[in-house]
Amino acid sequence: ETTLLWLRRDLRLSDHPALSAACEGGPVIPVFIYDDLADDLGAAPKWRLGLGLKHFATSLKDKGSRLILRRGNALENLRALIRETGATRVYWTRQYDPGAVERDTDVKSALKQDGIDAKSFGGHLMFEPWSTQTKTGGYYKVFTPFWKTVKGREVEAPLPTPGTIPAPDSWPDSDRLEDWGLGAAMRRGADVVRPFVRLGEQAAQSRLGAFVGQIVDGYDASRDRPDQDGTSCLSENLALGEISPHQCWHAGLRAHEDGKDGAETFLKELIWREFAYHLMHHTPRIVSENWKPDWDAFPWNEDERKAEVLAWKQGRTGIRFVDAGMREMYVTGRMHNRARMIVASYLTKHLMCHWRIGQKWFEDCLIDWDPASNAMGWQWSSGSGPDATPYFRVFNPVTQREKFDPNRDYVDRWIAEGKSDPHEDALRYFEAIPKRWNMSASDSYPDPIVAADRGRKRALDAYENRDF
Ligand code: FAD
Repeated sequence: ETTLLWLRRDLRLSDHPALSAACEGGPVIPVFIYDDLADDLGAAPKWRLGLGLKHFATSLKDKGSRLILRRGNALENLRALIRETGATRVYWTRQYDPGAVERDTDVKSALKQDGIDAKSFGGHLMFEPWSTQTKTGGYYKVFTPFWKTVKGREVEAPLPTPGTIPAPDSWPDSDRLEDWGLGAAMRRGADVVRPFVRLGEQAAQSRLGAFVGQIVDGYDASRDRPDQDGTSCLSENLALGEISPHQCWHAGLRAHEDGKDGAETFLKELIWREFAYHLMHHTPRIVSENWKPDWDAFPWNEDERKAEVLAWKQGRTGIRFVDAGMREMYVTGRMHNRARMIVASYLTKHLMCHWRIGQKWFEDCLIDWDPASNAMGWQWSSGSGPDATPYFRVFNPVTQREKFDPNRDYVDRWIAEGKSDPHEDALRYFEAIPKRWNMSASDSYPDPIVAADRGRKRALDAYENRDF
């Protein structure tokens, strides 16, 4: 019995339940379909997907297998492949964002009607989002009780890489990855971003090893310090499934048992990711609407062309911590969590812009873009989400800088203007940005577009005068 292994965001060989199950039955044909959902990805995630697919194809080749690429509607392509190969089974790893759920539900019922054994597997999450319930049978809206409920639960031990991936006698045709142009939308210098990418399963595993071996010990404090290499930086690999959360969890658990100080906090962060998925499953509107509908009445600016929005995107608000974060993202495709909170607070509070503007920009720029964590992070920051920071808690980007970047290493790493000998990363920013932004390292650093205290007052006044 031949199995089509329909790959999506699960580009790994180890701890891959769908792959392991497929290998038990007979020949396996791994396939990736470039459908509308993949086409809708932002520029950086799409480019990163292309890198991930290329790398994963090599891993499959090393195992005597192949990655078959097809473009277009998922169901039509799967049906065509079934006709071409005689496959009787289609296996995949579940995804949970509203678009994928709709697609996968349709594909599953259509294939079942065709008499195909269509089966979805877990693997992207440790706990299926519907498996955790409150005492009254509802879902969790607050993190801490969610954490308390799941933290003692057994997390399945990671599966080994299958010894062999049985190959079919003949392979179906495949598109060429280069022809898809997945990097085309990445107008900014992909060459600038590329050195910051941690690509593939092996690289992710060795980073996990280094993280739980050394870095995690001081993680309680270092995780808040954008000037330090103090976090796992595995979000990029988790986003594409180049590593599984189970693998991270068990490594963290061992570190915790070994008495490493920050290990429990790391486990907690992994549960924040699960919580984001739990929320997205139970309230899919979190990705597009104010989770608390009252916030529809708030006087957000929703005009993306506004000069203040552009300044925010371009990292020239004149607030160093904000600009450093935005530039870090533009150059590396990642942003430190502390900086994410600061730039999000600044956009939604000081600039009073709708969080969707920021969510969309992150979706375009982040190589670790994740539909659930991004939506939750933005709604948390703006005050419109579940378990959110209240709107009146306006981060002060100046005192935050003093506290979390005390020696200015982070802001100096990313801001070149006004420096006689700028950091090389600060200069990389100017290689990455489009010419039309008309910015140069030799410019003088701008004055704040909205000063921290004035923005704070404006936001708080609007909040006081809200009519909900
Ligand atoms: P570590 O500190 O090493 O944490 C380990 C893992 O735990 C992370 O890789 C991640 O999977 C998970 N995690 C940690 N913090 C969070 C969190 N707050 N929410 C959910 N999961 C978490 N994360 C994304 O992966 N993709 C996004 O698109 C994304 N957008 C965000 C937008 C905003 C406005 C905010 C405030 C946060 C966002 N986050 C997002 C969450 C967080 O910033 C990143 O997960 C984290 O910075 C990744 O770095 P790391 O892998 O070194 O994390």
